[in-house]
Amino acid sequence: IKILEEKIKSEGVVLGSDILKVDSFLNHQVDPFLMSQIGQAFADKFSQAGITKVLTIEASGIAPALMTSLQLQVPMVFARKHKSRTLSGNFYTASVYSFTKQTENKIAISKKFINADDRVLIIDDFLANGQAVQGLLDITSQAGATAVGVGIVIEKRFQAGHDLILSKNIPLVSLASIDHFQDGQVVFNNEGAA
Ligand code: 5GP
Repeated sequence: IKILEEKIKSEGVVLGSDILKVDSFLNHQVDPFLMSQIGQAFADKFSQAGITKVLTIEASGIAPALMTSLQLQVPMVFARKHKSRTLSGNFYTASVYSFTKQTENKIAISKKFINADDRVLIIDDFLANGQAVQGLLDITSQAGATAVGVGIVIEKRFQAGHDLILSKNIPLVSLASIDHFQDGQVVFNNEGAA
């Protein structure tokens, strides 16, 4: 969506060869107006899919996922990353290799909040190699639920995640698709197209 691409162009900072920092509107400070547009865009795309639950991972997935769930009028559940004392007992867990932190993390969702009847929409802030989405798909299948789609705010098309998700035949909607970085600038996939 246009307003997202404009924000990325004006406020995004390219770090090294493959990281985009967008902490002024998505990853630290959050722009609620933009998040609401993002939620609307995902909800429009998946309005006919019979979604019963929106899943994401804390922390940065929560803002777009919540806005999407509000529009779809279903609950949002975020996977928790850290072990805590409230995290004992009945959880589905998956192992996720973190692209930005380069560490292996466990994510967990309580068995109370996802079940075999659920039709799940997975939302995340970024798609790089697809490990975060893969972890949520893993948990979805452990629960016997159906993964209906994946919605990504910003995908980096030059990394492996996009093709990984399509190879599983799951519909993927990315609201901004970065083709590559060039001299510290973002080049979108559709640039040069009509
Ligand atoms: P993946 O699991 O697809 O390899 O990486 C996606 C996850 O890593 C996202 O949940 C996001 O938190 C983080 N991530 C990946 N690439 C970027 C990036 O370029 N910028 C930021 N801010 N986060 C990223």
